[in-house]
Amino acid sequence: MPIISNRLPKEKYEENFSDIHPPFETKDAALVEANRCLFCYDAPCMKSCPTSIDVPKFIKQITTGNIKGSAHTIFTSNIMGAGCSKVCPVEKLCEGACVYNLMDEEAIPIAKLQRYSTEMAMENNWQLFDRKKSIGKKVAIVGAGPAGLSCAHTLSREGVDVTIYEKEKKGGGLMTYGIAAYKVSPEFCKDEVDYILSIGGIDIKYEQELGKNIQLDDLQKSFDAVYLAIGVGLARQLAIPGENLSGVVDAISFIYDIRNNGFHKVQVGDKVAVIGMGMTAIDAATQAKRLGASEVTMLYRRTQEEMPCTEVELNIAKLDGCKIVWLAAPKEVLGSDGKVTALVSENMKLGEPDAGGRRSPIPTGETFTIEIDMLIKAAGQTPFMELIEKNKLKNSQGKIEINNGFTSINGVFAGGDCVNGGKEVVDAVQAGKDGAKAILNYFKL
Ligand SMILES: Cc1cc2nc3c(=O)[nH]c(=O)nc-3n(C[C@H](O)[C@H](O)[C@H](O)COP(=O)(O)OP(=O)(O)OC[C@H]3O[C@@H](n4cnc5c(N)ncnc54)[C@H](O)[C@@H]3O)c2cc1C
Ligand code: SF4
Repeated sequence: MPIISNRLPKEKYEENFSDIHPPFETKDAALVEANRCLFCYDAPCMKSCPTSIDVPKFIKQITTGNIKGSAHTIFTSNIMGAGCSKVCPVEKLCEGACVYNLMDEEAIPIAKLQRYSTEMAMENNWQLFDRKKSIGKKVAIVGAGPAGLSCAHTLSREGVDVTIYEKEKKGGGLMTYGIAAYKVSPEFCKDEVDYILSIGGIDIKYEQELGKNIQLDDLQKSFDAVYLAIGVGLARQLAIPGENLSGVVDAISFIYDIRNNGFHKVQVGDKVAVIGMGMTAIDAATQAKRLGASEVTMLYRRTQEEMPCTEVELNIAKLDGCKIVWLAAPKEVLGSDGKVTALVSENMKLGEPDAGGRRSPIPTGETFTIEIDMLIKAAGQTPFMELIEKNKLKNSQGKIEINNGFTSINGVFAGGDCVNGGKEVVDAVQAGKDGAKAILNYFKL
């Protein structure tokens, strides 16, 4: 695979990876948008936010110049409100529910207004929450992603002493290591983690991996409760011939490298194929293009109707010049001298809808071949099965089962992607709050 990322001038990388949703340029621009809000009774935007942020209230506070109050309203429901304002797929959440859509007018830019208040709070290091006096309870949290951090902050506010065990060198989980660099920068993620921790009472121990350096039964002995927030897991294999050739990578490792090592050091092919049509696939494809690949082809075995990404995400890929091939499944990766040279795919058709209305792709037997020098696999993630089974956690295909936050093991709780199988950051934040609530109730038992 040729290393072509160094072909682009430095300014071009900066342009390609700059903020895709820039903030308001002036205070007046924010005020104009805030004043458009109709402050609906029973606001649909609030109901469509998984963390139930009181959107009309925080927007009203912006209109009256009470930015501190506005940030407090947001962070009370969602301590990652600043990050969420950059990464939430708002078209299917709050902004998608805005009543202006029914009037064929632009929805209120809720996320941009949320960013306005929360970034000001972070920049000024406003401390908006007090930690209650220690109640003498200790909780271990495994995983410093959105679910773990949200759980930690909620518990710390209530006076619980929290220790987070994180296997990586930085906190933030996929927010730091997975989401596209043009949505959130690694620097922002670090600032957000620091801001969350500034409440006190939360100690993070980095490079500590459950199953390796630490074991669940030891945590159970040393703490009053344990919360598992370990995320979904590993990249799913395609299970086709040629998958081990050089130049075949998984999307999460590819994005991890961009986020961890910087644009200049990441290898990208010239002709790249991406398998999948979820958010991860879109992020991998657009970033390959932005690193300088001349051709990026995305293949998906169903049609646009069934794609997991949103219309807005698909349009980002199209605007970046990625080619989309529907109804195509990878069949074999061809190579020469151990390196990938081509991808053979099979045309698919959709079968009859199943009981749930989902139509499965059926192979047609017709194949086609495209020349490539890099293949990025983004066909989903598989759970940390070994870890889950070893610890005898009740699960359904690797998704940890919970009942009111409780796992099948007494005193062990779980939430976020490891329970829901992989949703959005905002869902993980809510899961962390729910987990903290369950733990606090457990302490009262
Ligand atoms: C490529 C990609 C792009 C995405 N883009 C978006 C987006 O644009 N918008 C959006 O809202 N969502 C997006 N998501 C989804 C979002 O990132 C996740 O839903 C969210 O991060 C889940 O939070 P979590 O805390 O449950 O898990 P994670 O964020 O995965 O955090 C889990 C943490 O646990 C740690 N960990 C794992 N195993 C262990 C162990 N054994 N011991 C110790 N620590 C461990 C991990 O290192 C990690 O820090 C994307 C996901 C991916 C993969
Ligand atoms: S957290 Fe996300 S979904 Fe909720 S109001 Fe903010 S931008 Fe919308």
